[in-house]
Amino acid sequence: MLLLVIFRHNPMRNLKVLIVGAGIGGLTSALCLAGKGHSVTILEQSDVDDSGAGIQLSPNCSRVLYHLGLEDGLSLNGCQPEAAEIRDWKSSELIASSPLGTLRQLTGFPYYHIGRDDLIRLLLEKVIEEPLIELRRNTRVVKFVQYSTGVSVSGDDIEISGDVLLGADGIHSRIKQLLFGERKPRFTGNYAWRATIPVEKLPSEFITPVAKLWWGPKKHFVHYPIKHGKYLNCVGIVENKKWGTEEWTAIGEHKEFLRDFENWHEDIITLIEHTNPLACYKWGLFDRYPLTSWSGGRVALLGDACHPTLPFLAQGAAMAIEDAAVIADCLERCEELEIGLKLYESLRKKRTTRIQFISRQNANIFHMSGLLAKLRNKLAPIILRDRMHWIYNYDPLSVA
Ligand SMILES: Cc1cc2nc3c(=O)[nH]c(=O)nc-3n(C[C@H](O)[C@H](O)[C@H](O)COP(=O)(O)OP(=O)(O)OC[C@H]3O[C@@H](n4cnc5c(N)ncnc54)[C@H](O)[C@@H]3O)c2cc1C
Repeated sequence: MLLLVIFRHNPMRNLKVLIVGAGIGGLTSALCLAGKGHSVTILEQSDVDDSGAGIQLSPNCSRVLYHLGLEDGLSLNGCQPEAAEIRDWKSSELIASSPLGTLRQLTGFPYYHIGRDDLIRLLLEKVIEEPLIELRRNTRVVKFVQYSTGVSVSGDDIEISGDVLLGADGIHSRIKQLLFGERKPRFTGNYAWRATIPVEKLPSEFITPVAKLWWGPKKHFVHYPIKHGKYLNCVGIVENKKWGTEEWTAIGEHKEFLRDFENWHEDIITLIEHTNPLACYKWGLFDRYPLTSWSGGRVALLGDACHPTLPFLAQGAAMAIEDAAVIADCLERCEELEIGLKLYESLRKKRTTRIQFISRQNANIFHMSGLLAKLRNKLAPIILRDRMHWIYNYDPLSVA
């Protein structure tokens, strides 16, 4: 009955959509909306680039990227892993393993490891060739004003109007701040080391199509191949209550990276020794508690702007990509713009909140020590079996 009330026979077409932020969420939503016939202006404060670190793309989001025509680009630039292995930080003993290669048969879409810069470039190429999308770089949005028939944004030297405004402007979202007031993100007590290594520098045993996750006391380490197997992406997470800077990224000292993992298995030491000492990045990991609302009138948030997610489930960008597909579908199907935005929010909030919660919980599980860790290691193969299926089987292109 509800569906009959809110869906109409002539869906909304030719909206003028303003998107703040050209990260993974902003670029994907622009493409999904242009695919529905809307014209889109993206406003991005920087020149649009992203670090060479890696990212994991699970089938729930590769499904959307395939729909946008990125299949060849992902296959040429990414790697399709066969499995994810969890290993003990000291002994390297295999704790659990889950197949990733079979996900293509199970869900219809593969799992990828890819450089973030490659993913952004692939999305940008599509954005640039799409006549319905205009991308304005180096344009920071400072303010928006809503009125009965539209919304306008302004910033450094610009003022531009549209029908709807999407804030895809990341965890420090200005649009969120303007909608719901200032509240700083919370430092989670973890920071991440990120570095990539050309595989030609590494002993051959490191070159396998497998993601390895090493669990240790108050720390964990992840590595997997990217760039069609030419580089290994490494992430080392360290619990530490202090994050000395307001910035959320900083160049770290190579010797500090080594010190953080000094007692670990020799494979991890070898990896850190092979990272470029001048390109070891340190990221403070921040998040927020789930927001009560994601939209107000003609303005809505997506991606990290409304549900920043710790990287311990590798689902933050995946959620932004899912949001993009669902918001485009909701705007197409609903008669009233505000109802479309509320429908989007109601379809997405439960899932993203659950993912935020599990990601946070994973930090405690990954970082256990002593007896608790022993018990965890015994139970892991049983508990982890099929644990991710509800995430991977979701189809954002059809939920609305
Ligand atoms: C260590 C680490 C590893 C991760 N690994 C994974 C993974 O394997 N898989 C996964 O799915 N996710 C992963 N994530 C999470 C993922 O990176 C984020 O969830 C994702 O990048 C969020 O995308 P977004 O587009 O919402 O925001 P962002 O990527 O933050 O993009 C926001 C954009 O908005 C722009 N902007 C901000 N303010 C303004 C303004 N006022 N005006 C104009 N432009 C503005 C910014 O410049 C930026 O380009 C990881 C995160 C970390 C920290």
